[in-house]
Amino acid sequence: MSEGLDFYIHYILDRHNLGHLQLLCNRGYLENNHIRIEFPYKNRSCRRCGNCKGERIAEYRAKQGAGWPTVFVGDGYSDACAAREADVLFAKNDLEEYCQREKIRYNVYTGFSEIAARMIELGLLVET
Ligand SMILES: [Zn+2]
Repeated sequence: MSEGLDFYIHYILDRHNLGHLQLLCNRGYLENNHIRIEFPYKNRSCRRCGNCKGERIAEYRAKQGAGWPTVFVGDGYSDACAAREADVLFAKNDLEEYCQREKIRYNVYTGFSEIAARMIELGLLVET
């Protein structure tokens, strides 16, 4: 999920053979040399975000039911709502500062190998 726009995120995912992943983000359309942006995800209560990642996590949790922990990886202020909602949080940069200020528990990371190692420790990922 992202606060970004679908067309460049799809481009990046496709370049890494990850185009099959579900993407929850805003939509951008090039029209007459301008970008028109649509916000297809309606936020129930958040007025801060265009696509509230915290609300998307809550919706996912409600759909999947208990027993499916949510893991969120973020680095910016647009991840603030998700930081409060995720069961397991990985934070760096601006999000890490936000979590320290708001006293939200998180795991530090610099790259995805650390995230994978921590998820294995937590029993959320099986090592192959
Ligand atoms: Zn929000």
